[in-house]
Amino acid sequence: MADNNEGFRNDWATKDFYQVLGLAQDASAADIKKAYRKLARENHPDSNPGDDAKHEKFKAVAEAYDVVGDEAKRAKYDEFRSLQAHGGFGPGMGGGGFGGGGFNLDDLLRDRGGSGGLGDMFGDLFGGGQRPRTHQARPRRGADVETSATIGFTDALDGVTVSLRLTSDAACATCQGTGGKPGTRPHICPECEGAGFVVSGTGGAFSINETCPACGGRQLVYDEACPTCHGSGRGTSARSIQARIPAGVKDGARIRLKGKGAPGENGGPHGDLFVTVKVTPHRVFGRKGDNLTIDVPVSFDEAALGAEVKIPTLGGAPVTLKLPPGTPNGRTFRVRGKGATKRDGSKGDLLATVQVHVPATLDTTAREALEAYRAASAGTPLRNGLFAP
Ligand SMILES: [Zn+2]
Ligand SMILES: [Zn+2]
Repeated sequence: MADNNEGFRNDWATKDFYQVLGLAQDASAADIKKAYRKLARENHPDSNPGDDAKHEKFKAVAEAYDVVGDEAKRAKYDEFRSLQAHGGFGPGMGGGGFGGGGFNLDDLLRDRGGSGGLGDMFGDLFGGGQRPRTHQARPRRGADVETSATIGFTDALDGVTVSLRLTSDAACATCQGTGGKPGTRPHICPECEGAGFVVSGTGGAFSINETCPACGGRQLVYDEACPTCHGSGRGTSARSIQARIPAGVKDGARIRLKGKGAPGENGGPHGDLFVTVKVTPHRVFGRKGDNLTIDVPVSFDEAALGAEVKIPTLGGAPVTLKLPPGTPNGRTFRVRGKGATKRDGSKGDLLATVQVHVPATLDTTAREALEAYRAASAGTPLRNGLFAP
């Protein structure tokens, strides 16, 4: 055997080691080890004397870990699977393909006792004895799902766990994806003779395997279609999931939650969930990166004479802003450490911007005082600069 085939085994085509370990194909080495240890412990013959099912499971788990627990063997196995996925046949090509419950072709063949009929027919069809395991559906990754969530301003700063209700494609609940009316028995699809695909073209190198149009690749057909999905086997499922929105998320951000999308088929991994986050604005505070912003209305006299102005902080005690005499409109003061919490746990700043307020109405005393002020400051060349040559 050539070196590059070392460790490869023929039975890989029929075994899904990831499924045995209850993992997705992209599971980390640590997860594989963890899953193996857990399953090996649960199914160990020493702790389950006389339980043959557990004994078998233990052997299967050990076999799976022997391959996918070894970096080099796992790489070969993955490569083999991807080749098989692109070249092989099986249900799940194109339409059909919803696993769900339903019937297993092997069981059906066994029911018929294998005396002539279908068993032999398969033998003939595929050139003797070795019937390909057409029911060995390939793992398929679940679809990505898009959704949106609206969260409060402070939740966006601190991070929050939200409950999302998702509707996604799933096997029809009435027929478990078989497409048949519950209680009716399936029979082998006459169109494809149970293969799930049909060969188009004239044969030879240019023939193409296509998903059988009659059974949609499910290999089985029913006399009566499922009343819910009218035979398609498709439905939708709603589920609620908890999603963690990380601290510091911005309005309009699209967050990817790996593995929270639609479930995979045949042991394939979940798709991803993309959440577009809407952040409700705060009545008082705004945000600029790790800093919070606030507009502080001050009166003309406070700005001109200087003042101590009390302003709120988010989730903390108010602080006093010291305006020096002659503070211009629009000046921003930095209050250190009163901003948003950063990734490293430290805090950004609060940026307080002065908005000088002009009173809309004046009582008599105030008017007299302002007129006196005008008289005192008359001749100030405020707009001279506009007319400079
Ligand atoms: Zn068919
Ligand atoms: Zn149905």
